[in-house]
Amino acid sequence: MTTDPFPTPDLDHDWATAGFATRAIHAGQDPDAATGAVVPPIYQVSTYKQDGVGGLRGGYEYSRSANPTRAALEEALRAAEGGSAGFAFASGLAAEDTLLRAVLRPGDHVVAPDDAYGGTYRLFARVLGPWGVEHTPVNLSDPDAVLAAIQPGRTKVVWAETPTNPLLGIADIAALAAHARSAGALLVVDNTFATPYLQQPLALGADAVVHSTTKYIGGHSDVVGGAVVVADGAQLPVGLVGPTGTTALADAVGFHQNASGAVAGPFDSWLTLRGLRTLAVRMDRHQANAAAVAEFLTTHPRVTQVIYPGLPSHPDHEVAARQMSGFGGMVAFRTGSEQTALEVCGRTRVFTLAESLGGVESLIEHPGKMTHGSVLGTVLEVPDDLVRLSVGIEDVADLLADLEKALR
Ligand SMILES: *Cc1c(COP(=O)(O)O)cnc(C)c1O
Repeated sequence: MTTDPFPTPDLDHDWATAGFATRAIHAGQDPDAATGAVVPPIYQVSTYKQDGVGGLRGGYEYSRSANPTRAALEEALRAAEGGSAGFAFASGLAAEDTLLRAVLRPGDHVVAPDDAYGGTYRLFARVLGPWGVEHTPVNLSDPDAVLAAIQPGRTKVVWAETPTNPLLGIADIAALAAHARSAGALLVVDNTFATPYLQQPLALGADAVVHSTTKYIGGHSDVVGGAVVVADGAQLPVGLVGPTGTTALADAVGFHQNASGAVAGPFDSWLTLRGLRTLAVRMDRHQANAAAVAEFLTTHPRVTQVIYPGLPSHPDHEVAARQMSGFGGMVAFRTGSEQTALEVCGRTRVFTLAESLGGVESLIEHPGKMTHGSVLGTVLEVPDDLVRLSVGIEDVADLLADLEKALR
């Protein structure tokens, strides 16, 4: 008897009724059929022996098209977001680019956030723009402004980030979904900051979710990756037929993933899946620490404003409380001057001065000069006295003491 060395992840029991942590640990991750290995092995392989021409084992032919380790991650991501299909990419921006090229054509229009990850804005402004796709940056926390920016017949995507990077603005996902749908456009939500543990955009009406899995899902600052998860039954924008002859969004994204090829490699997929398994427990600690840090900063005389969706002073605290099960691990604050902000960033020891976010270790940065340098001089420019914290899972007393010393 031969055992299939390349088992297809078992899609039959999709763990739909299980809780989040159970899904993150089990979906797509059945013990290896050949060996019983408890976690999906790294199939570091490019091609697969065929049993006669076209005789594929488990559907595997070439690793750009499909790879068992990536398939395990994609199924786990699908289950985590409650969608119909998951796709893993080499980076968050590769995921965004693939999704956008699957749904947009020259002449189309996108409603984009006026506060967002700088690289996303750069993708709209400097990559898609020259290919004939226009965008309008809008304050997404104002659903009426989004409605006013939609050009019926031309707008094909409303792109939302919530909470936003770095100003932690909150968009009402259900309200934006209704506006997008009435215009025949798709609502895409970048769920990187909230993670599927704290926010389920597909259940609120979004058509697709994107992630930089580099951040909380990977969670250990050791891998760059991205994901797209498509909602059950999601269709392409009204009037568009995809390259495979269907109007299903998942078909178009799957075609483009293979046709453009910016896939996640086996080892990166394995690391990302290893991170996803502990997402729930990490997020619990991230947000408990972040709440304590936000609370501490509100009482500090050198801090002029603290921005955290969990604070009642946040203008959209109620929307966040309604659509998120927790407020996450990101905190931003202002110091009144760029000089002070830069000095604080240079003085912490437990908080490491670095770009990126979502890892177990706390990070501090100056968005104006670092992550958001590429949007200087645009509507996305951020205040120069802003400091952004990615609050890690260290002992909270050490985090507070570190900030106290840096602010002294
Ligand atoms: C980092 C980030 C991205 C881009 O992801 P990469 O993995 O760096 O390509 C997109 N959106 C948000 C909110 C991010 O923080």
